[in-house]
Amino acid sequence: MAMGKCACGAVEINVPDISTKIGACFCDTCRKINGGGPLLGVHGDSELRTSGDAQIGRYKSSDWAERGFCKNCGTTLFYHLMVGSMDYIYSAGLFDQQEFEITEEIFTDAKPDYIGFLSEKSVKKTAKQVFEAVNKNGA
Ligand SMILES: [Zn+2]
Ligand SMILES: [Zn+2]
Repeated sequence: MAMGKCACGAVEINVPDISTKIGACFCDTCRKINGGGPLLGVHGDSELRTSGDAQIGRYKSSDWAERGFCKNCGTTLFYHLMVGSMDYIYSAGLFDQQEFEITEEIFTDAKPDYIGFLSEKSVKKTAKQVFEAVNKNGA
């Protein structure tokens, strides 16, 4: 069980079976929402377990996903797929334990030159490669 909180503490999120792998996304929307840097996302499942539902704002950023944030402090909470698996992908910064590794970096063609890649070992995919993989999986 991993327990996560936003900066002000109004939203607590519990993830029973959290991944140790981080996917970093450099797309335009992620960088706008996250202060210029990529979203560092950790995969959960399709159920959101939170004690602070009333404090969670949701922004539909595309036809297939919405993003959750704390209405009080603005912390990025999650990216939520609204098609296919319906999974929640949580902001890595929420969690007390930080035993993660960056295994994937996506939308690399949107990464500005002033940000380097985060890991030498990660799999790197352009926007085109991401959309091709999604279509193959039928999501
Ligand atoms: Zn907050
Ligand atoms: Zn993104």
